[in-house]
Amino acid sequence: MMRRLFVAAVLLAAGPAIAKDAAFDRPTYAGAYEPQGVDERGLWMQFDEHERGFRDSPLVVRDEALTRYVKGVLCKAVGEDRCDATRVYVVQDKNFNASMAPNGLMIVHTGLLARVYSEAELATILGHEFAHFELRHSLNGFKKRRGGTDILAWLSLSGAAFGQSTAAAQMAVVTGVFSFNRDQEREADFLSASYIRASSYPLRASIVWKRLMEEEDALREERKQRKVRRATPGATDTHPTDMQRFAYFSELEAQPSALDGDDGAAAYRDATARVLPTLFDSLVKSNEFAGVDYVIQTRGSTLGWDGLLLYARGELYRLRGNPRDLMTARQLYEEAIATGTAPAEAWRGAGLTAIRGGDSAAGRSALTEYLTRMPTASDAAAMKILLEN
Ligand SMILES: [Zn+2]
Repeated sequence: MMRRLFVAAVLLAAGPAIAKDAAFDRPTYAGAYEPQGVDERGLWMQFDEHERGFRDSPLVVRDEALTRYVKGVLCKAVGEDRCDATRVYVVQDKNFNASMAPNGLMIVHTGLLARVYSEAELATILGHEFAHFELRHSLNGFKKRRGGTDILAWLSLSGAAFGQSTAAAQMAVVTGVFSFNRDQEREADFLSASYIRASSYPLRASIVWKRLMEEEDALREERKQRKVRRATPGATDTHPTDMQRFAYFSELEAQPSALDGDDGAAAYRDATARVLPTLFDSLVKSNEFAGVDYVIQTRGSTLGWDGLLLYARGELYRLRGNPRDLMTARQLYEEAIATGTAPAEAWRGAGLTAIRGGDSAAGRSALTEYLTRMPTASDAAAMKILLEN
């Protein structure tokens, strides 16, 4: 009770900048759910233990400023009282995904951060995961599937395996145990929309789903697969289709004042510009060329191109490696260098692609520049051998 009064006082004091729309207040928050009974308390202990193991996983992106920023967006989306109970981890993974465990552990994939272009867009997705948490979807689903002591047995087994398991398996342990049904997904989307409408952000969700459809189209076209754009989910789908999400978010966004407020696109661009190589790393190395090129180009056309983004696109082309790709890559590295904001690796890419293209003098000079800028690079010895020949 004290807590709610305090929050209300803060909202009043801060005025319309925070209380954007009085008609859209967040639902009353009961506080983070406390585990009930022996089984749930045991379950929580196990989750906490998993989290301790997870913290040391090589998958976790150790960038405090980025993690703090992502958590800050979550807090603005759902409100300080709600976000208090969460601990956010950014993990290196190409997929558009985030998840939250019943003990408050939230995992945000780099593939999600690479595919949203404003705080408002990120806020709806994080709000969706928080909504599953608030509605206790994961806890209930977990209990339903694995009653009582089964959960503990399962978790301690997977906990024992944690030490030796691969990074990917570790994440599957943390995130893969939760799967929701379509009604829960929808419910989480709508609750997220109501968090956002009570926040300082405009509701900007439909565009995210539209882009995911376009990305899939690009990938299917590349693979010469038929485009599928289903309006309704198939029998085995656990989620509403992207098309359905696009449709109902568009409807919500059309409501009065839903689009008011700063979407934080400039702030998002500035906060993520520094870490673009991290956000695009596993995407660029994935085998999804056309989809990833769509993502990179969309970020460029939405938030502007800089040296790091041009470099990422250069890497994408160089790694595919067709002769024409190498020419495109070289051009992209050179454009990156011309911006003045390229990473040292852009000279490496420019050098390698120049040499492959038969322009040995330019290649050597770029590689020399790379080694000057990054004398302790892990491939410095290999580059020196290349230069000596
Ligand atoms: Zn969900």
